[in-house]
Amino acid sequence: MTKTAFVAIVGKPNVGKSSLLNKMLGQKIAIVSSKPQTTRTKIMGVLTKGETQLVFTDTPGFHKPHNKLGEKMNEAVGDTVGGVDACLFLTEPRGELNEQELQLLDMFKKQKMPVILAINKIDMINDKEELLKRIVYLTSFYDFTAVVPVSATQGDHVDELIDELDKLAFESPHFFPDDTLTAQPERVLAAEIIREKIHGIANCFSNTPTFSWHCSCGRKNART
Ligand code: GDP
Repeated sequence: MTKTAFVAIVGKPNVGKSSLLNKMLGQKIAIVSSKPQTTRTKIMGVLTKGETQLVFTDTPGFHKPHNKLGEKMNEAVGDTVGGVDACLFLTEPRGELNEQELQLLDMFKKQKMPVILAINKIDMINDKEELLKRIVYLTSFYDFTAVVPVSATQGDHVDELIDELDKLAFESPHFFPDDTLTAQPERVLAAEIIREKIHGIANCFSNTPTFSWHCSCGRKNART
């Protein structure tokens, strides 16, 4: 009996969404950068494990819009959250939830969304007590379906997370061939990888005020 779940990966910029998606799929498909909001396209990752197909939407992150592009990004997140079976909400291991994260939690409540909380970057925490306190703090905000502390970069507990997502899948035919990793055309993936490389180069020349380039679709991108 085949099963499918459409899952939106949501969380603030730089929390590790792309890293986690890449780790779950075992292949680099979304760019990872120390600068937030570099992933502009909705990248779909598809993971088929046994009878279950998990279709992931990697979002640009939920943030305060400073310009039209920012507004579009937030709209993209809103659309994503509305059209999925479940959300995978990533948070940092420390610090207060910010305004945008609280807004996401409000949206979950309104939509009675099944949400799995992944506390990422636990490799930065040595103290189990600290992690327990973190879980108590975060679970006071929402009735999460499951809470899984993970490290996207180290791969810690990523399999457990996939098992929890598996439980949310509905009986349904698979939407993609079982060997699909992403629904994005190769051209977009290539543009993502190039963008990441350019970021690496741009960071080496921090005195350069503006760095701009054209991706293969002809759109001009600029970053200061
Ligand atoms: P996104 O903006 O949410 O997609 O975040 P990215 O996946 O691009 O990651 C942002 C930064 O956090 C990068 O420098 C990653 O290497 C780092 N990062 C992601 N996951 C982890 C983790 O589990 N542990 C640590 N220490 N760093 C992480």
